[in-house]
Amino acid sequence: MGSPMAPSYASLFMGKLENDFLEKRLLKPYLWLRFLDDIFMIWNYSLEDLYDFIDCLNKLHPTIKFTFNVSNTKVSFLDVEVVKNENNDIATMVHVKNTNIHQYVEYSSCHPKSCKDGIPYSQAKRYRRIISDDNIFKSSLTELGQHFLNRNYPINIINTAFQKVSSLTQLESIQCRIKDKNKAIIPFVIEYNPSLPNIGISINKYWDLLKLSSKTSVKSLHKSKPMLAYKRPKNLKDYLISSKLEKTYKNGSSTKCNRPRCSHCSFINENTSFNSMYTKETFNMRCDTNCATSNVIYLITCKKCSIQYIGQTSQQLSKRMNQHRSDIKNYIDHNFNSHVVKHFNKSSHTLQHFSFQPIDIVNSDMERLLKETYWIHRLNTVYPKGLNSKALYDIP
Ligand SMILES: [Zn+2]
Ligand SMILES: [Zn+2]
Repeated sequence: MGSPMAPSYASLFMGKLENDFLEKRLLKPYLWLRFLDDIFMIWNYSLEDLYDFIDCLNKLHPTIKFTFNVSNTKVSFLDVEVVKNENNDIATMVHVKNTNIHQYVEYSSCHPKSCKDGIPYSQAKRYRRIISDDNIFKSSLTELGQHFLNRNYPINIINTAFQKVSSLTQLESIQCRIKDKNKAIIPFVIEYNPSLPNIGISINKYWDLLKLSSKTSVKSLHKSKPMLAYKRPKNLKDYLISSKLEKTYKNGSSTKCNRPRCSHCSFINENTSFNSMYTKETFNMRCDTNCATSNVIYLITCKKCSIQYIGQTSQQLSKRMNQHRSDIKNYIDHNFNSHVVKHFNKSSHTLQHFSFQPIDIVNSDMERLLKETYWIHRLNTVYPKGLNSKALYDIP
C-alpha cells in the first residue's frame, strides 16, 4: 500500500466484492466487520458450513485470497483480542503481537515536549477504548507504564496521563468528539529545534499588541490566535539516504564531429574511456561527445609529457578550443597566467602535442561547475600534478 490513495481503492474494491458475495450466500455470518482487507466474523452454523463459506470466498477472485483463524474461545482482529467466555459474553482486550517490543519514542528524542507527553495519554486511551473489563484495564495500564518507564518517560507524566484516562468508562472513551469546523485557526508552522524558546508563550504574551494595529490587513489576518505547529527538521536519514534510484549508465564515446573544415577533429582523442595520467585510473565514457558538443567538461592532455587539464564550457567545444589555441599562440604578446598556455609554450612543445577529449555532458551551470571540480579531483589535475590552477571547491 504505497500511494496515499491505495487504502481508499482497496476499501472500495473490497466493499464491492463483499457486497456481491454476501448477497448470494444462503448462510450468512451473524456478524461481518471489515477494515480494509481484514475481516472479523461471528459464525452461528456448523464448522463444515464455515469452511465451505471460506472456500467460496477464496474462489471469488483470482488474486484475493484470505487466510483465516477459527476459534471457539479467542480470536484477534487488528489490535483487539476478542474472547468468548462461558456465558457466551464477549470481552475485548488489547492484542499485542509477540514481535512488539514497545519501542515508543525515547523521551530524550528530538521532539516537542507536548508531542512526547501526549504519547502515554493516547496509548492509555487506546487501552481504555479496547479493554472491556475494568480490572484488566488497570493491570494492563501498569504494564504499559513500565514500557514508558523503560523509554525514560518521567513518572509524573505517565501518572498524569493515566489518571486522566482512568476516570473514563469504556463507553465514554469511544464517544466521538465533534469538532467545530467553523473555527478557522491559522497554524503557525516552524521547524522544531530543541533550543527554540517557548514560542507559544511569546504568541500569548504579544497577541493583544497585534490587535491594536490600525491596519485592516493585519486585523483581518489575525482574527484568531494562530496555533503553533512544529514541522520535523531534517534527520540523519534525510541527510544520508537518497530515494532517487541510481542511474543506469549507458556507454558512450568521444568522436570527431566530421564537419567539413573542422580544425579540431585532428586534435580530439577518440575513445570510449579516459585515464588519469596521474592516478592511472580509467573511466568509461557515459555519453557521446564530439567537437561540436556544448555544456561539456573536457580533458586536455599533453601528448608529450601526459600532463592534464580539466575545463568546462557552456558553448560549443570547438569555440572553446579555438580560444585555447589562440591563447597558446599569443602567449608571448599577452603573457597569460595560465598553466595550459605556459605548458604548450615550453621548449620542445608545439600545438601538435595538444589533444583534448570531451568527457562529460551537463544540464545546468551549477552542474557544470560542480562536475568540473569533481573531475579535477578525480583525475588529480591541480598544479603541479596537472595544469589546473585550482578547483572551485577544495577537498582537504
Ligand atoms: Zn571536429
Ligand atoms: Zn607537455
